[in-house]
This record gives sequence, C-alpha cells and structure tokens, in this order.
Amino acid sequence: MTLTLAKQALKKYFGYDSFRPMQEEIVETIYAGNDALVLMPTGGGKSICFQIPAITMEGCCVVVSPLISLMKDQVEGLIANGINAAYLNSSLSSLEQQAVENDLFNNNIDLLYVSPEKLVSGDFFPLLQRAKVNLFAIDEAHCISSWGHDFRPEYTKMKFIKQQFPTIPIIALTATADKLTRKDILTQMGIPDAKTFVASFDRPNLSLEIRPGQKRMEQIIEFVKARKNESGIVYCLSRKNTEQVASKLQGKGIKAMCYHAGMPSKVRSDVQEDFINDRIPVVCATVAFGMGIDKSNVRWVIHYNLPKNLESYYQEIGRAGRDGVKADTLMFYSYRDVMVYRDMFEEGGGDNVEVKLSKLERMQQYAEALICRRKILLNYFNENLEEDCGNCDVCKDPPQYINGTILAQKALSAVARLRESVGIRMLIDVLRGSGRREIFQNGFDKIKTYGAGREQSFGDWQYFIQQLINLGFLEIAYDQKNALKLTAASRAVLFEKKTVQLVQLRDKKAEREAAKIKFKPKSQKQQLIDDLFEVLRELRRTLAQQQGVPPYLIFNDATLTEIAETRPTTDADFSQISGVGERKLARYGDQFMDAIITFIKKKTDEGMRVTGSTYVLTHQLLKEGLSPTEIAKKRNINAITVFSHLAYLYEKGVDIDIHQYVSEAELQAILSTINSMKPPFTLSEVHEKMKGQVEYHQIRLAMAHQSKIAKE
Ligand code: ADP
Ligand code: ZN
Repeated sequence: MTLTLAKQALKKYFGYDSFRPMQEEIVETIYAGNDALVLMPTGGGKSICFQIPAITMEGCCVVVSPLISLMKDQVEGLIANGINAAYLNSSLSSLEQQAVENDLFNNNIDLLYVSPEKLVSGDFFPLLQRAKVNLFAIDEAHCISSWGHDFRPEYTKMKFIKQQFPTIPIIALTATADKLTRKDILTQMGIPDAKTFVASFDRPNLSLEIRPGQKRMEQIIEFVKARKNESGIVYCLSRKNTEQVASKLQGKGIKAMCYHAGMPSKVRSDVQEDFINDRIPVVCATVAFGMGIDKSNVRWVIHYNLPKNLESYYQEIGRAGRDGVKADTLMFYSYRDVMVYRDMFEEGGGDNVEVKLSKLERMQQYAEALICRRKILLNYFNENLEEDCGNCDVCKDPPQYINGTILAQKALSAVARLRESVGIRMLIDVLRGSGRREIFQNGFDKIKTYGAGREQSFGDWQYFIQQLINLGFLEIAYDQKNALKLTAASRAVLFEKKTVQLVQLRDKKAEREAAKIKFKPKSQKQQLIDDLFEVLRELRRTLAQQQGVPPYLIFNDATLTEIAETRPTTDADFSQISGVGERKLARYGDQFMDAIITFIKKKTDEGMRVTGSTYVLTHQLLKEGLSPTEIAKKRNINAITVFSHLAYLYEKGVDIDIHQYVSEAELQAILSTINSMKPPFTLSEVHEKMKGQVEYHQIRLAMAHQSKIAKE
C-alpha cells in the first residue's frame, strides 16, 4: 500500500489535500503491519489515522469505541462521505445485526464500529474469524487503565486480540497523555513494541480568558449577545446555577436551556439533541454535558465557576472548536469557589484530599497568572511553548503595575487591628466602611482603618487582596474559617515601609467602551463573507433537518467558512474546498452553489461590488439558455466580453460546448496559427495574421481550449 493511494483516498472521501504531520507516519506504520499508539488532543485528527488504512487496505477495520451514542454519529459521518461503515452494539435489533453481519462477510464494510462489550462477547469471536479484518482500532484507549477517569473493565479483556490475530496491526488512540496510562495501554493490549506517536496538546484555535467573578451575569449576556447563532456552553458547578443562568439568558431573548443530572432523562436528551442540531445555541450545564457528544461547531465555552483542576478545565474548554476554527473560552474566577472546593474536598475525606488540594492550587495559580496562560497550561501537561501564545488575555493585554504600597498598608493594618480574625469579605467591608450590622456588633467601626479604603470598589479590593495573598503578604487560615493572617513579609510592609507592586484591575467595562470607540466597521469584503456564511448556515440547517443528521455532518464550520470566503460556483472550484470529497460534492454541491449564485445576484442587484460576480452572472444566464448576444444585451455589456467570460469558464472546466461558436476546422486553423507565433501575443495580432478569416471571440475560445489542454 502506498502513500499516494492514501492521499488520493484522503481527497476523494474527506476532501482534504494533505495529511497533518503525524497522520502520514501513522498510516505508514499501519501499512507496514506494525502496531501504533496515538496520543493526540481532541480535534487533533485521530480518526483519519485508522480510517484511511481501513478504506485503502483490503478487508475491514474493526473499531472499538466505548461511547454508543457517538457510534451512530461517526458511522453516519462516514457514510455521508461515501464510505462503507456500520456498527454493532446493543442498540440494534437482531435483524439489523444480521444485516450488518451479512455485509461484513460479503466484504461490503470497510469500517465496523463495535462496543467493547460486543468485542469481548463470545458470539462475536466467530465473526472475527470469518471476516477479513485488516486492522483493529481501539478508540478512547485510556479506558483500559484503572488509573484513568473512564476505566472500562471490558477493555482489560482485549489482550485476546493480539493473541488470536498476531499478524493484524492494532492502533490504540487516546487524548489522555500521561505516562502511566500510556504504559497500561501497551501492556494490557499486549503490544509492547507499538510505535508511540505523541502530538502536541496545544489547541491554538482556543482563545483563553479569565475575568474576576463579579457581575458575571452581565458579562455573560454581553458575551453571548456578541455571538449570535453560535453554539456555546456555560458550565456551572451547581444544578441550581445552570437553571438560573439559563433563565436569565432567556429573559434577554437568548435561546438557552439548562442541563443537569436532576432533570428527567427525556428532557435532558431533548436538550442535547436540540443543541447538536443547532436548534438551541446555548446550554447552561453541569460539567457532564458534552462528554458523549461530538459536535464540532461549539464556538465558545464559559466557566461560570472555577473548575476543580486543570485537567477538567482543559477537557471542558476542549469541547469547543473541534473543527479547528477559532473558538473562545472564558472563565470566571472567584475566591469563593476555591473555598467551596476546599470544604467539599475536606468534608468528602478519602486518601487523596492532599492531591485534590494541590491540583486546586495549580488551578488557582493558573487563574491568577500574570504570564502567558497557554504556557502555564501546556507546562502543566509537560509541554513547553517557546513563544507567548498571543491568544490569551495576558498576551493580548499585558498587566499594568501600580504602586500598591498604600493599598497594601491599609489592608494589612486592618487585618492587624481586626486581630487576624476575619475573612476576605469582612475585611473589605471594614475597609470600605460598610454599615453591615455585624460590623457594629463587633465594634469594627471603631478601628482606625474603618472606611480607609472607601474609594476602591469591592471587586477592586478582592483583586488586590488576592494578589497580597499570592505575594505572601497574607495567608488564609483554612482551619479558622478562612481568617486572614499576617506573615513575616507583611510586617516589612507595615513597619519597614517596604514597597509593594500590584497589578491594576483591568476595568473591563471601560475597556470595552474604549474598544467600541476604536471599533472599525467591518470591511465590505468581510461583511459579504459573514452574510453569505449566515445564508449557508441556514441552508445547512435545513438540509440537516430534512435528512435527520446534525448540521456539522453535512459540512463543518471550517468548510462552510471556506465556501463563504471563496464563493465557488463550479464543480471544479467547489471540490477544491477542504472538506468536500466526491460524495459531498455530488450530494450538496448544486444546492450550495445555487445559494451562492442567488446571493451574488442579490448583492450585485443591491449595487454591491462582488469579486468574480461577473463570471457567475454570465454563467447563470447561459445555464438559463440565453445566447451570448442575449446575455450581452441583458447584462448591458459587450458581446466580446461575454465570450471572454465563456472562455474563462470553459478553461475552468465548466461544461460549455465551444463548437457552437467555433467549428473544428476554424479551431484547428487558429491553433496552428497560434503555435507558429512567438508568445506573448495579443488577440488582434492573431486576428491580423489570419487576415480576418475568423472572429475575435473565436480566437479567444481557441486560446482557452489550448490552455485547457495544456493543463490536462
Ligand atoms: P479527534 O478524533 O482527534 O478528536 P477528528 O478525527 O474528529 O479528531 O478530527 C478533528 C477535525 O479535523 C475533523 O473535523 C477532521 O475532519 C479534521 N481533520 C482531520 N485530519 C485532517 C486533515 N488531514 N486535513 C484537514 N482536516 C483534517
Ligand atoms: Zn498567551
């Protein structure tokens, strides 16, 4: 098997021009009959690694996948690309199973998806022996490891594959990269010599942003409103929160629903279906949502609360932008969440409280970071990012330092006068001179610093105090109701006039206002792209609905964007788009191209200049049966211009019968004249040389014919 064949299949079935770097090597490894272990992040392109060998090699690839809900989706996606795929799991009737088995024995299936239960069941083994299996692909291979978070006992029984079929290669794939899991997979599958491929876990298309947790709702509403029609998820810690956030968004006219384990399962699955099918753009959910779905066009993820560790955070934001198109993530951070987790972990008990707490601490450090966040994140996953990413809030808007000595003195001295007995909230209330009853009851209004920090908002103080904690000027006594304590360093500030640098709170609102002023209106070009994208998105939704498949299975957002940008109106151009294989061109090409043509007509009628539109309009009239002269009249342009459009279209592979306009004899005469001349030459030079025997437009068509032949 050769790479050339693999590349042809990649274009034919998936519409992609080239492999991503590691995919090629992996495919070659399998062609050579060797085992492989593939570690790639979500969206990295794992599936192609086994699908291409499966299609190109004789026989069938058995794919083991633990998520039954995803299996149908994956198989439908393959079928939509013209690939013979099927699945076997407990959801099928025995009649349906029988049909799949028959197809398998008749060599009509290239990819067979099975659940691990099915694979290890006694009745499947005879099938395996009879079928011509070319490859075993173990998806979500981390399920094999009892260390992992998704341990599946059936996975540990899969050693039999290598024992029974020693010559058939195995490829194991996962998005979990830790060393322990890796080793477990190799041992348990009995493939110690498998070649291991570790891709970078960076997801550069995800923007990273963290904001202080005040006035979250206001900010969420603004965020969502700026992303009309885009799918997104708001993750909340509590069920109640998911309901509240959803209802507040609904109150603002946003189509949002909540999702949590306390809801009846029918309601839950309806919400999930509506989200997958782009009927509901926003879901406010607890973190379980998104696990079993493969929706590639989630454009944003918001964390209403701090996730409990960086693994969870990365997994959750990773549900956005699987199609590789830009996606935004926003996390709100408040100290309160940290306290909630601490209580939760400590009350929960168990042996790994320490581990949980230290992971929480790393999460907190990330949230408070003043350097490129992606660097910290990747570093946590043992990867180094050389350059700052440029796509996180710290990179985009580096912190501004202020002299915070006086602020620090006020806060620390208040802590001292309050006898180190109060938490953050009370400290801020005292500094701001709040009239809360508890303050008077405790006589806190009598201390010298009462009201000394009135000019700062509550949120500002929270931000500064967090920094004082991080800088080691204050400590939280978790065992004393989170009371703030002074440290050795704080004495230097109080008594030795040590200066303190603090980062100024970024005033998001003021910033946004400023951004609005600076905001440049969209260029006309961009506006056209965006408008067309909306038209295409709507078409995609309608087609998806008719066919009962998720919209992203028709074309993903990356493909749709490229179509909107390049506006193809011929088969040749349409098939150039990444993500358009033969099957999809045949199935959807005309509908999408018609929509593009209608769009271009509408825009030009409105007086807009659309690049390339002149060819499209001529082509359209030609398809309607008008002659070149009629087209010229209708469009109010020269006939020779129309012919030059025809020549252009003909050259591009549009089916135009040029013999209607130039006979074979004339064509040959022109071609031999052209061939006797030294390029470059003009139309009129040829015309002159032929002494007016032929017309200008005939020469133009003959030249198109020649360059078309040259290209072929
Ligand atoms: P994973 O299984 O690793 O999460 P997928 O296999 O679903 O990732 O691939 C993620 C996305 O990238 C899909 O939209 C897929 O079609 C696309 N993709 C994969 N390989 C290529 C490639 N060589 N060129 C362009 N797009 C690709
Ligand atoms: Zn960065």
